[in-house]
Amino acid sequence: MELGKADSQPGRTMKLKLHWQIFIAMALGALWATLFPAQAMMAAPLGDIFMRLLKMVIVPLILTSITAGVAGIGDSRSLGRLGAKTFLYYVVTSILAITIGLTLANVIQPGVGLEVAQERAIDPSDLEQPGSVADILLRIIPLNPVRAAADGDILGIIFFAIMFGFAITRVPDRYSEPLLTFFQAAFEAMMKLTMVIIRLAPIGVFGLISRAVVSMGGELFQAVGLYMVTIATGLTLHFVVVLPLLLLITTGRNPLDHYRAMMSVMAMAFSASSSSATLPLTLEAVEHKAGVSNKVSSFVLPMGATINMDGTALYECAGVLFIAQALGIDLSFSQQLIVVFTALLASIGAAGVPSAGLVMIFIVLEAVNITSPEAYALVGVMLAVDRPLDMYRTVVNVISDSTGAVVIAHSEGEELAYPRIRK
Ligand code: ASP
Repeated sequence: MELGKADSQPGRTMKLKLHWQIFIAMALGALWATLFPAQAMMAAPLGDIFMRLLKMVIVPLILTSITAGVAGIGDSRSLGRLGAKTFLYYVVTSILAITIGLTLANVIQPGVGLEVAQERAIDPSDLEQPGSVADILLRIIPLNPVRAAADGDILGIIFFAIMFGFAITRVPDRYSEPLLTFFQAAFEAMMKLTMVIIRLAPIGVFGLISRAVVSMGGELFQAVGLYMVTIATGLTLHFVVVLPLLLLITTGRNPLDHYRAMMSVMAMAFSASSSSATLPLTLEAVEHKAGVSNKVSSFVLPMGATINMDGTALYECAGVLFIAQALGIDLSFSQQLIVVFTALLASIGAAGVPSAGLVMIFIVLEAVNITSPEAYALVGVMLAVDRPLDMYRTVVNVISDSTGAVVIAHSEGEELAYPRIRK
């Protein structure tokens, strides 16, 4: 059974398509915050309300979507195949992104000769330090799934939902059928609710952008301009070359069709800097606009929102090289390999929330023994200018997830909503 294919698309009944409404709201929000910075924060509650509504649906959406999706797959071989493809896609795209970051940081050398007035940086000791990599991996298994849901521990919920969905396929039909129907029905209802909330996106995005513009500090940007250019160039290469090419080659579809379908998703990721908060929109768009089945999207997207972060992976790698260069530390080839590997793990461990990627940079720094107070002070500088980079890398994170869903759906023989490019 195909889930979530039914009925109305948000914005269809409105004159202006939803993504245009969102773009206009973004422009207006930025204008408002620039012209009236003192009053700009008045709009922030609109963003807060919207974010809370989205967060409200995330846990039930993930739980019902994955449980129904996995239970609907049926046999363990299909599940294993889907899991292997998803894992391969996550790792390959993240490594490609890291390689871009590594190359650009070595070529542009943004940290060399850097002088920054540290007093404008933010104290990084305010940040909650991440646990070790082993810790992060172990925590995927929740001690108590109910608590994982209550705490919004997405990885824990995903793990439980996959196991539970799988268990449903192994019990006799008289038990599995009502459970499957229940989770499918609950998922449909959650999707309906999500679509209602998504209609509020223009109002929410207006508030989110106003706050983002006001909180961006000025002069530091100039001092670390080259660092920002390096990251932005890397993200752009991945966003406009690597991922579209991958989509084109593997599916024979025009990447522009996909990017057009994901407009509101990208606008949301940009405004909220959060893959998790964008997830309801991503699920909706990938199913209804790209034509991917619930079976694939419910498997690839929620996990992707926490695990597959190409933009963050690129950022971790280039960011650490930047710090090393600024401190005059020459990282050997093998140390750079360690950076690549830990950047991948850090991107997997980063939560899909604002600036999570920056916090994880401590793990990568530690792996190559860069733990001096000067290094941490530089993280503070990076934090002060993080917002625009975070907005952009979140867009890249989310578009990689949606591209993955399309690529995997195609490989599973699904008919996509995009026309094939004639050969
Ligand atoms: N904000 C990013 C996301 O939610 C994570 C990061 O900080 O890199 O995808």
